[in-house]
Amino acid sequence: GESMITVKDLRKVFKTKFGDLVAVDNINFEIRRGEIFGLVGESGSGKSTIGSMIVGTYPPTSGSITFQDGRDISKSYKFRSQELKREIQLVFQDPGGSLNPRKTIRQILSVPLQLFSDKHLSKSELDERLEKALLKVDLPTEYLDKYPRAIGGGEKQLVCIARALAADPSFIVLDEPTSALDVSIQAKITNKLIELQKENGISYLFITHNLCLVRNMCHRLAIMYLGNICEFAETAEFFERPLHPYTQMLLASIPVVSDEEEKLKPQKIHSVGEIPSPLNKPSGCSFHPRCPYKMDICAEKVPEMREITPGHFACCHML
Ligand code: SF4
Ligand code: MG
Repeated sequence: GESMITVKDLRKVFKTKFGDLVAVDNINFEIRRGEIFGLVGESGSGKSTIGSMIVGTYPPTSGSITFQDGRDISKSYKFRSQELKREIQLVFQDPGGSLNPRKTIRQILSVPLQLFSDKHLSKSELDERLEKALLKVDLPTEYLDKYPRAIGGGEKQLVCIARALAADPSFIVLDEPTSALDVSIQAKITNKLIELQKENGISYLFITHNLCLVRNMCHRLAIMYLGNICEFAETAEFFERPLHPYTQMLLASIPVVSDEEEKLKPQKIHSVGEIPSPLNKPSGCSFHPRCPYKMDICAEKVPEMREITPGHFACCHML
């Protein structure tokens, strides 16, 4: 399919008082039109850093990010065109913190509707669009005059999603959008997101630490470990034939859902050692201190990303 986001040799280094922190390095992927692309990893793996660069929170240290037909988006938000600001939206983890408590939902949703409208909106046109924006996420129009504190956590996240959609974007970065919510509400929000993606023909980058969520949601996914992508595949292929030792470890730790899945589950492997800090990244393959299959070469040489079967990439000396 047509490309929405193309990421090439992306690297981000943060200066800290403890030294340079290589948050992400050697990142390459493409997100296609109409696709939900999952970026999965533990905290500190760099997944949010990638999302932040796509929405323009900060620029990469090196490498490039391009949008659709090749427009360069390796620039901070404030240097982006109005068109790009509209096209790429963000929904993040904490819906409470991302809604101004002193503004009503009407005021909150009015901002993108007016900012990104192609013409000046009259009061009645704005009201009509506000109601549509809420109905899109199944919230009653009476909510327009409520303050965020008066509604539940899941409803707040629906308002954040409505705000992102109000800009009429073609791409949304979802950074752990359901992690702060009760499990019972998570499925409702996830299903709504899938429905909205189909209805609006948009693409998502879905960032999460939860492999169970990506299974139902994403078309393709990439697994991150200490700032690098270690495996990359179509979702079904990935769950059928996980290749990287780290990935196999992650899958073995997912709670079992049925006997059928128990049979499909890869043999459990035991990791050795704690998760190292990105500040002192291990040499060679950064997973080697935890890898049960480690060989001499693993601590010496960084493994290259290779296409093992068509469309299924992994980064491991053993493969
Ligand atoms: Fe394990 Fe070596 Fe593969 Fe890294 S490269 S995952 S240490 S076998
Ligand atoms: Mg994060």
